[in-house]
Amino acid sequence: MHPKHLYSVHFDIVHGCQLKCVGCPNSTLEPEIYRISVDDFARCLGNMDVERIHSLRLFNYGEPLLHKQLSSIVAQIPKQSWKVSVVEISTNAQKVYWDDFEEMLKLEVVTKLFVSCDGNGTPESYEHLRPPSKWGKLPQAQENKTGRSLTVPRGSCTFVADAKEFDAHPWFGEINQLYVDADGTVVPCCMHPKAGVLGNLMTQKFSDILVGEARRKFKQEQTDNRVAMSVCGNCDVGPIGNEGPSFWSPITYWSANKSELPEK
Ligand code: SF4
Repeated sequence: MHPKHLYSVHFDIVHGCQLKCVGCPNSTLEPEIYRISVDDFARCLGNMDVERIHSLRLFNYGEPLLHKQLSSIVAQIPKQSWKVSVVEISTNAQKVYWDDFEEMLKLEVVTKLFVSCDGNGTPESYEHLRPPSKWGKLPQAQENKTGRSLTVPRGSCTFVADAKEFDAHPWFGEINQLYVDADGTVVPCCMHPKAGVLGNLMTQKFSDILVGEARRKFKQEQTDNRVAMSVCGNCDVGPIGNEGPSFWSPITYWSANKSELPEK
């Protein structure tokens, strides 16, 4: 059946970030900054062949305000044939191209703006706010600082669940998720920048990627032998209903019979 709805889209309009935050894979992978062109962004949006999107977030791992044409990027959104309810930017706000940022705000397309207010991007501020991290040294983001031992669940995780597997959320009864890198690459989740590659929105429709061979194989590999997978084999996110302590989302936790936050 052709999908009509996308519940959650994370689209990295900028690949990479200028900060090294504890716990973020970007801190250890240190990807170079890459900004998607306006034309490529429009092409990718056009390949989201659905009727409605609930939340479109202009980030996955990258820092969106590093895009120098943010207003032109955002202007592509209302030109699409689909409707979107929430357009969100989440930013560290350490670098702002103010003239273009103000142009972007005037469009009244972005409905949610989250700003992290924790420092000014200097080594001094970073070390002051994140002891014992040192600016010149990677912040050991790969180390497990949670105090919990890592338990990798069996089987495929909630991020690659099929829409019909979600039964606790009323949004059109069709929870589809999409995570896109700045070159159009479709990845499985927002827990790691490249746990796998499921397709590319520059050349493929979302509906084709959803039922495509790459996604099917990825899910099968999770089901058959997840511990052998380089990224998913070190991740504690489980299936719907057993997502694990690293995960919280209104997709699965929202229900008339459940509390909004996971119980300890
Ligand atoms: S890294 Fe974790 S959350 Fe992402 S696809 Fe793999 S198991 Fe799922």
